[in-house]
Amino acid sequence: MPRLLHVGLDDTDSKKAMCTTYVTAVILDELKNMGFPAAEPPKLIRLNPNCPYKTRGNAALSFSLMVETDEVHIIKDVVLAKVRELADLEERGTDPGVVFLTGRIPASLAEFSTKAVKEMVTMKEALDLAKSIGAEVHRFKYGRGVIGALAAIGNKFDNGFTYELTAYRTKVHWGTPRSIDRTSVFEMDTKTRPYTFDNVDYTTGEVRIMPHTPCPVYLGIRGTDPAVVESALKMLRLEEPVERFVLYRTNQGTDAHLADVKISDAKVYSSVRIRGLVSSAPSTIRGGHVLFRLRDQTGQIDCAAYEPTKHFRKLVLELVPGDNVTVYGSVKKHRGLSKTINLEKFELMKAATVTSTVSPKCPRCGKTMKSEGRNKGYQCPRCKFRDPLARPTVVELSRRIKPGLYTVSPRARRHLSKPGESVYVI
Ligand code: ATP
Repeated sequence: MPRLLHVGLDDTDSKKAMCTTYVTAVILDELKNMGFPAAEPPKLIRLNPNCPYKTRGNAALSFSLMVETDEVHIIKDVVLAKVRELADLEERGTDPGVVFLTGRIPASLAEFSTKAVKEMVTMKEALDLAKSIGAEVHRFKYGRGVIGALAAIGNKFDNGFTYELTAYRTKVHWGTPRSIDRTSVFEMDTKTRPYTFDNVDYTTGEVRIMPHTPCPVYLGIRGTDPAVVESALKMLRLEEPVERFVLYRTNQGTDAHLADVKISDAKVYSSVRIRGLVSSAPSTIRGGHVLFRLRDQTGQIDCAAYEPTKHFRKLVLELVPGDNVTVYGSVKKHRGLSKTINLEKFELMKAATVTSTVSPKCPRCGKTMKSEGRNKGYQCPRCKFRDPLARPTVVELSRRIKPGLYTVSPRARRHLSKPGESVYVI
């Protein structure tokens, strides 16, 4: 009887080499050549972006196959042999995990996945869960990758999904600079946006589809429509050979990591969306970071736009106390400092009114008069006319920033953050 076999894998790479997506790509091609094609596009799941164990983008992978019961062992052998062969096991911190599960995805596994995207989970939680659902777990070294492997199988795309078409480099090119006709990337972006996203960063002129790491990825095109990402790839003028391509279904660009919370419930290592009022004026501190304080009914928290967010900091500097905003970002706590939200974006919901007082003009000569003290009237500095009853007028200043959503540019965007351009550029 054919059964659906789910395979999850994670933590095969180090900062120096490899990428779990590549290990998955090699396994998928090998299984396909053996007559076991994947049932649907493999899943590339981005987990908690604040996880301290991550190598880079905290990706975990899974795929599913329809297999006869007596063939399951063949699949398992191929997967485990490839992980053993390709994982960068020499490096400290590379702790691969592989999980096999047959049949339906239990609700408890889907919940675990949601939690692993939004906050931290423990190895004990992962192992207890695997046991309770009858998942087969394989740990290499410490095997922390079991967490990601389970989460990738269990992910049900709570917030929707997007696609990524990834092209891999031939081995001789690994670790060398990547090359592509830049103009073709800009042309592709113009022709395919918004069905593809984050191809380029117009604020800096950077091409964003190629990583800068020594991993086997040549480039990845992200988008909402698989046919469009495929045609986008054809528009590119590639400048090196491609070993293989894989189209992934992914939770990238869906905001799946964000939880709606009050300030007092913002947990360190989680990602949050909080509505509140700006309670201190934004200011630039050493290193070029911009900070302001936010308050709601439950407390106050610092919000930061760090230096690498570049232009976004200028938008943050336009906020004033009293602005009603929703902030989005990760909760961090650096030693000796209070909790801080590392901003990914903010929405100005209702702008506070900013006023200024204007001194009256002299009725005789038109010169701006000078105050004689609080409630003591004004005197003209030129003709010396005095008016003890004159008072300043309060005028409303126009604000440069308008209600709307303001995001970091693609170069500073998290894989999980929904793409989008700021509504108004200052
Ligand atoms: P790459 O993006 O290049 O594939 P990576 O950034 O995904 O690398 P890994 O090498 O996979 O990083 O390391 C992340 C480790 O953290 C894995 O072992 C994974 O199981 C674990 N992990 C992921 N999310 C969580 C979480 N929410 N709580 C605890 N551990 C997690």
